Amino acid sequence: MKDWKWQIQNRIKDLETLQKEIELTPEEISIFKDADEFFDFAVTPYYLSLVDKKNPNCPIRRQIVPASGELTKQPNEVADPLAEETHMPVKGVTHRYPDRALWYLSHMCAVFCRFCTRKRKVGESSSTPRNEDWEKALEYFQSHKEIKEVILSGGDPLSLSDNQLDYLLGSLKEITHINQVRIHTRYPVTLPYRITDELVNVFHSHFPLYLVTHFNHANELTRDAEVAIHRLIQKGNVVLLNQSVLLKGVNDTTEALRDLNYKLVNFGIKPYYLHQCDDVFGSSHFKVEISKGQELIKSLRGYMSGITIPNYVVDLTGGGGKVPLPTDYLEKEDALSYTFRNFKGKKYFRSK
Ligand SMILES: *Cc1c(COP(=O)(O)O)cnc(C)c1O
Ligand code: SF4
Repeated sequence: MKDWKWQIQNRIKDLETLQKEIELTPEEISIFKDADEFFDFAVTPYYLSLVDKKNPNCPIRRQIVPASGELTKQPNEVADPLAEETHMPVKGVTHRYPDRALWYLSHMCAVFCRFCTRKRKVGESSSTPRNEDWEKALEYFQSHKEIKEVILSGGDPLSLSDNQLDYLLGSLKEITHINQVRIHTRYPVTLPYRITDELVNVFHSHFPLYLVTHFNHANELTRDAEVAIHRLIQKGNVVLLNQSVLLKGVNDTTEALRDLNYKLVNFGIKPYYLHQCDDVFGSSHFKVEISKGQELIKSLRGYMSGITIPNYVVDLTGGGGKVPLPTDYLEKEDALSYTFRNFKGKKYFRSK
């Protein structure tokens, strides 16, 4: 059913129901309950319908079905790799870079992605700012004149109602030093029916708006996703960008990245970032070596239109911020140590 509320109400949340839909391996069955306790399992019927039911290596399935790697904690892995909680002046607001602030507005997502960087709080209702926290955040933005951009994030900010979004976007617009507002959401991927005419009317009234989607694989760019994207662009006047996470077994081949990024541009979305997977608990089975990521970017550069190529970046563990990974030089030097040496302590990081 192409109704987003129906999709949310009918999400698949337990092992028994999931097993009726796809055939799980004995390992997936044995770890499901432990993984679910640590980080909720939930998937919309729409997103589950994209899974190849017979293929345990299906790239969509890997993003939603818990794997044993989730239960092992590697020495480099932490709960809050980007140290977001320590850069939080007001509940929900992470102000790391001087000119922009990230606003965590909802713990709800249509689908819980197994690689999520914010596992520690996504799905936990206590992590969601309440209305009085909204006012405190708005006061913070108002009193910090250096903030030129607010990024609505989560969880998923489109889990809020149209009225709530209208209120928040309107309130941000009243703050005259804010230059632009951006929304980070995965709904166009996991539940495109959320993009209703009512919602895009709200967006239209708050032009200019930038919206960053999170497509990781070409199979997610369905006909229904295309309808949602075109509605956002043509009726909502929204500018669309995409961020992907480089994930083993999902998009770590030249072909997968080529198909994904060509299709994004064909739908009207500019590829913005390709993220190195963060060092969050239980992500080792998703990790692609940085040297391999660099090879992948090299295999695209020159062979594909420049507008289809995202920036390959790493968000330094401990809150160092996002930095580009070099791809065209440095055969001998390890890219991460190069990046640390050149970007750590750069003036663009806001001091606490
Ligand atoms: C990623 C991120 C941003 C946005 O960075 P851009 O490079 O402008 O996309 C802002 N604040 C925080 C805390 C972030 O992690
Ligand atoms: S939509 Fe984003 S915040 Fe929500 S589970 Fe997926 S990666 Fe995490």
